[in-house]
Amino acid sequence: MEKRLKRVRGLVINKYPYRESSDVVVLFTAEYGKIKAVAKGRRRPGSRLGAALENFCLSEIVLYLSRDRELQIVKEAQLLDPHAELARNYRFLLGASYISELLERATEVFSPNRALLELALTSLKLIPESDDLKKLLAAFLLKALSHLGHMPVLDRCTVCKSREKLLYFSVEKGGVLCENCWKSAEDSIMLGSKGISEFQRILKLPINKLNRFKAETDVLFDLLLKFARYHLEIPDLFARKVDI
Ligand SMILES: [Zn+2]
Repeated sequence: MEKRLKRVRGLVINKYPYRESSDVVVLFTAEYGKIKAVAKGRRRPGSRLGAALENFCLSEIVLYLSRDRELQIVKEAQLLDPHAELARNYRFLLGASYISELLERATEVFSPNRALLELALTSLKLIPESDDLKKLLAAFLLKALSHLGHMPVLDRCTVCKSREKLLYFSVEKGGVLCENCWKSAEDSIMLGSKGISEFQRILKLPINKLNRFKAETDVLFDLLLKFARYHLEIPDLFARKVDI
């Protein structure tokens, strides 16, 4: 049985009480992707594992790691960045919880995805300074889908491959449709050339450059949410959250 002490860098994406005084923490690590680990005695007063394993903390964690079992064991944890500014405002925490829920529910354990981790960390930093949280989350969702291998097709019709007159979007077809093909999908909706180009720009722009870009984000966010639920096969993704 492989069982070794490993040092990882990870974001705490969830935690819940475990047995009398311990917690299970769900980490999204650079090295191994999602990992679940027991932090023994974490809820006892004065535990060394207190501060570094709060939700949304980026920490360096030493683990007893074995791929054969579901729960790993935390040996040590050192806080790198608490993302403390998120706690200033309820909406910031709500926005951050969309990011952590996606990481937790759309990934498997031991499936590293550094691009997704870096996107999440950048997005968490941007939340407190964002002028439009829905735009930021729509961009996060779109880019996260591409890092998960489910990027919507935005540059050509998903049916006939034409690059002309792209005006519609279909979740089921996985992207845009041209004016000749839109009837081939029952769920196609008209976004117009402006809506489609907003979609394309959000995908192309680095997420930290979005503040300069104005977009009609309510429609995009709702479409991306439907897209993520359908293509990631998580029908109740974000279903328990208050609307942002
Ligand atoms: Zn077409």
